[in-house]
Amino acid sequence: MLSLNTPIEKLPQIGPVYIQKLRKLGIRTAGDLLFHFPFRYDDFSDVKKISDAEVGEIVSIVGKIIDIRNIRTRKKRMNLTEALIKDDSGMIKAIWFNQPFLTRNLRINANVSLSGKVVYAQEGLQLSNPAYELIGKKQIIHTGRFVPVYHETEGLSSKWLRAYIKPLIKLANEIEEYLPYEIIKRQKFFGISEAIRQIHFPADENKAETAKRRLAFDELFLIQIYMLTQKKKWQKNNAVKIKFNEEVKKEVKKFINSLPFKLTNAQKISSWSIIKDLEKSQPMNRLLEGDVGSGKTLVAFISVLTVIKSGYQTALMSPTEILARQHFGEAVKRFGNYSKTGVHSLECKNSNLDKTNSCRLKPELQIIDISKTTTVALLTRSESKIYESNKIKKISKNKLLEKIKNGEINFLIGTHSLIQEKVIFKNLALSIVDEQHRFGIDQRAKINSNVLNIKDGLKTVPHLLSMTATPIPRTLALTIYGDLDLSILDEMPKGRQKIITKLVAPANRELAYQFIHDQIKKGRQVFVICPLIEESDILEVKSATEEYEKLRTKIYPALNIGLLHGKMKPKEKEEVMQKFSDQKIDILVSTSVIEVGIDIQNATVMVIEGADRFGLAQLHQFRGRVGRGKHQSFCFLFTDSTSVKTNQRLKALIKSSNGFDLAEQDLKIRGPGELVGVRQSGLPDLAMASLSDFDLIKNARQEAEGIIEEDSELKKYPRLAEKLKMFTKKIHFE
Ligand code: ADP
Ligand code: MG
Repeated sequence: MLSLNTPIEKLPQIGPVYIQKLRKLGIRTAGDLLFHFPFRYDDFSDVKKISDAEVGEIVSIVGKIIDIRNIRTRKKRMNLTEALIKDDSGMIKAIWFNQPFLTRNLRINANVSLSGKVVYAQEGLQLSNPAYELIGKKQIIHTGRFVPVYHETEGLSSKWLRAYIKPLIKLANEIEEYLPYEIIKRQKFFGISEAIRQIHFPADENKAETAKRRLAFDELFLIQIYMLTQKKKWQKNNAVKIKFNEEVKKEVKKFINSLPFKLTNAQKISSWSIIKDLEKSQPMNRLLEGDVGSGKTLVAFISVLTVIKSGYQTALMSPTEILARQHFGEAVKRFGNYSKTGVHSLECKNSNLDKTNSCRLKPELQIIDISKTTTVALLTRSESKIYESNKIKKISKNKLLEKIKNGEINFLIGTHSLIQEKVIFKNLALSIVDEQHRFGIDQRAKINSNVLNIKDGLKTVPHLLSMTATPIPRTLALTIYGDLDLSILDEMPKGRQKIITKLVAPANRELAYQFIHDQIKKGRQVFVICPLIEESDILEVKSATEEYEKLRTKIYPALNIGLLHGKMKPKEKEEVMQKFSDQKIDILVSTSVIEVGIDIQNATVMVIEGADRFGLAQLHQFRGRVGRGKHQSFCFLFTDSTSVKTNQRLKALIKSSNGFDLAEQDLKIRGPGELVGVRQSGLPDLAMASLSDFDLIKNARQEAEGIIEEDSELKKYPRLAEKLKMFTKKIHFE
């Protein structure tokens, strides 16, 4: 007996080749096939008499084949199949290109249903390349109705899927409802069986939409349930409460006053949210999202100081050695500066004891001199250093590990080295992950799990702060980072220079090259970004290697050109970046691997080849690599595309310097698939397609919150729990 659990191998007439293809899509049972959804429909529901068909319409007709034959056109050397179809109102010609096998299937006198566009040809109207099917005992599924279209991945055609799913549709009745009844009622959804029936073979467009809405909701809802469950689990851990008492507050104020600039409002608000989180005994899990240059590091430093002042350790992990080194330098600068001003502070008091309203320089004995207590260290694969008593010193790795273990290091900065098992902290209370999208989920988890501290007999985990410069629209953040709290730095520090962005027409390439040369003569440096490593004729995109050779041998033979691409080993990449940072390279040609938040103040020109190939948010991130120092910076966008749409899209980059705006625009113009991070997120299709549907996402979030609030272990909802298990297994959030 056929059931939802029947393995595909046991289904009638599926050969081993197709079994293999289905397996690759994660489809193992008849039920899985039913949950493989179409992504759009062809509206072939306009069934007409032949005599009523008009030019330009997409119609369906039903008739008898009077004649059918294959012809080879002499001029264009194409195989044409021509057929003459008759119904009781008239006759029409149908033609197909390069499908000679059709005559084996469609024979004279057969009754057929055809759906396609009516075009005008020399001898009258004809149907051009129509979808077709023979009319027999079975219901028609490819023509004459609203027809589902599936993604043609793994060589599975829509037609094939339709034919195999159709006979299984009757199994939809057996699917047990897993959504709580209340939700179905509130959201006015189809029940699951009806939704499955209608998404594959909808009665009409409306029903298809209603089904899609329900099933998209399901995916989003399951993701939210999963995320909230993760959040609950995380919150069951204990963390050290970091009290923001007067003393700590004073130190933080002093630190802020020691900075050569004012904090932005966004920085203040985010810092405050973090401080509030740190005060709880539940561990923080917060994502700090902010455009390149919005000053995330400083927010991190403020939280670091808060924790250090309470006597606990902190750690910051970066995806590359260069970034780690950069952070270490920044920490030395900021904390060093602060420690020098930190020994004494001017205090104004209106105390009762001494009635004079006086200000005096008072040694702050109760607060220990920061330079003696705050020790910052750097640990990467190739380096170990410490900064204490206002000096940077080299130290052996073993010594450093010992100092970390006995608590002498307050703030450890490093790369993946930090999650190696050898690093043991005495009392780590805050972990920070920079550019978190560059780390896998398991790596992020590891920074916490292997550093459990024992405190007061309780196992505690450190508070976790993740940072990313990827501007993610809120709907997406809510979906893929639904387990995190979110802080957004949506404001740039004052006085940031505007990067002059220009769309360079191919004819002006020489001028741009001249300009670049002038910049380099002035001592500046240049990035050139190429979209792909290997030449691809079709996409007309220059490969980085070719571009590198071209610049090196033809355009700028006298300059130092460097090359960076994803196929290089991490160490090689680091070396090239270091050379660029040390100004030993004038022009760095790179694929998109450059993305990370590297700070090279001397670089003033960002050239992006094939700019039309990138999303706006990503272009914006590239652009953010320049304009970091005091020199006016430039971003040149090259494209061979002449499309008006592309031009408009790229012009948005000239107008806006806000990464979030640009990401939202990308979402609207190009859809979610092109957003940074979406492809890797493992989102299922419908959820992905719904990322611009804020209402649906909000609904899913709210309903999920309701359920988790009421019954976080889903004890009352066993079918939902079971569905969730299958769902997470299928899309494994890695
Ligand atoms: P990102 O958010 O990309 O990580 P950074 O934290 O590296 O940005 O900050 C970029 C630069 O801006 C640093 O040199 C930092 O010192 C500086 N900066 C941070 N906050 C401010 C501010 N409020 N005003 C001026 N400059 C700031
Ligand atoms: Mg950064």
